[in-house]
Amino acid sequence: MHEYSIVQSLLDRVEAEAAARGATVVHRLRLQIGEMSGVETALLRSAYETFTDRSICAGADLEIVPVAVRWGCPACGTDLPSGSALRCGDCGGPARLTAGDEIVLERIEMEVPDV
Ligand SMILES: [Zn+2]
Repeated sequence: MHEYSIVQSLLDRVEAEAAARGATVVHRLRLQIGEMSGVETALLRSAYETFTDRSICAGADLEIVPVAVRWGCPACGTDLPSGSALRCGDCGGPARLTAGDEIVLERIEMEVPDV
């Protein structure tokens, strides 16, 4: 399942970060999920619960921030309103999705003991 592999790679990254900083506990994760990323947040949450059970993320909150779809023109950098014609009003270039398909681990809150 798509969501399971996302959580798995998420956990790999969090564990690597935690190990690099000597963290003992992870309190909270913040994820940006684009509306067009194809991720079902409900499934993602249940995959997260299952996978984090025995990991350093056990009990950590998962905060999901939805990211709206945005279009833009890669040629001249103009933002285009979504739902408009898929060509740039300035230069006529083809519009491209500039946001809304991402899955980004934005922040990890963890506890690093004082040395
Ligand atoms: Zn343009």
